[in-house]
Amino acid sequence: MERTLAILKPCAIERSLIGEVVKRIEQKGLIICGMKMMQLDEKILRAHYSHLVDKPFFPLLVESMMTSPVIVMVLKGIDAVEVFRNMTGSTNGRKAAPGTIRGDFSVSGQQNIVHASDSVENAEAEINRFFRPEEIFDYIPSGLYDLYAKDEI
Ligand code: UDP
Ligand code: MG
Repeated sequence: MERTLAILKPCAIERSLIGEVVKRIEQKGLIICGMKMMQLDEKILRAHYSHLVDKPFFPLLVESMMTSPVIVMVLKGIDAVEVFRNMTGSTNGRKAAPGTIRGDFSVSGQQNIVHASDSVENAEAEINRFFRPEEIFDYIPSGLYDLYAKDEI
């Protein structure tokens, strides 16, 4: 099964939205196989957002991502990257569709509640950046066949 990285950003922590977002992940059926709180620093953020270092908003983005600890999660499922990107919604919360996490909880292009990996390749690199191998638990939920048909797995 595919894996993806989710980050509950400081805006989500500060607004007490941890439960709301985790609830949606559980309700959807994505399997949480790693989860921890951590304080990000400039070094990890420069790597994580390396595609944005030249953007004018980059300093504010880094500052906002360090204002409180974040919660990082490894999510697992068939097509987990696409499933969680769709649940997350488009980058700008003002434009994100209602029903998505950003569409329902954000009015900002920056303070948009969650990070979601955008490709399988990036997901694996991001998981390795934020987690040690022993922090990821490769268990199979007992209700796996209530989530998926036997020929899907
Ligand atoms: N961001 C921002 N201003 C912008 C575009 C992006 O502050 O004009 C922030 C926003 O928090 C976003 C993050 O930078 O989630 C990463 O940007 P990316 O383009 O990778 O969007 P995402 O994959 O998060 O939708
Ligand atoms: Mg991105």
